[in-house]
Amino acid sequence: MNTSLVKYLLEAIQKAPTVANLEQRRALAEDLAAKYERENAGLRAIVARQEGELNSRPAPEFAEHRGVLWKRLPNGGFASDAYCPKCRVAMSAFVGPAICSRCNLEAPFDFGEMRAVHAAIPLDA
Ligand SMILES: [Zn+2]
Repeated sequence: MNTSLVKYLLEAIQKAPTVANLEQRRALAEDLAAKYERENAGLRAIVARQEGELNSRPAPEFAEHRGVLWKRLPNGGFASDAYCPKCRVAMSAFVGPAICSRCNLEAPFDFGEMRAVHAAIPLDA
């Protein structure tokens, strides 16, 4: 008989998993699955609670767009006046850029562009 074949077969038999090893692995896999299911349920509860908290918060009073603030209206739109991002007061605008009367900050666009800038405020701003 070929001794290298016998040696190969003996090694293969020794390396083959036993029923006891397979049972041990299955039990470990079941324990891990149960652990991850518990962790997943806990994380889902945390996410659901945080989503509820987030949805119950009112939207911020202002949205930032093009370097100035825009006041939210109850209907979901935005007031047409630009507000200073530092002082949160309405900026005056007649010609040139809108200017804050408190800190003299100038909007990065001219009064003539105000309507277009206002119209371009993203709805999810
Ligand atoms: Zn200001």
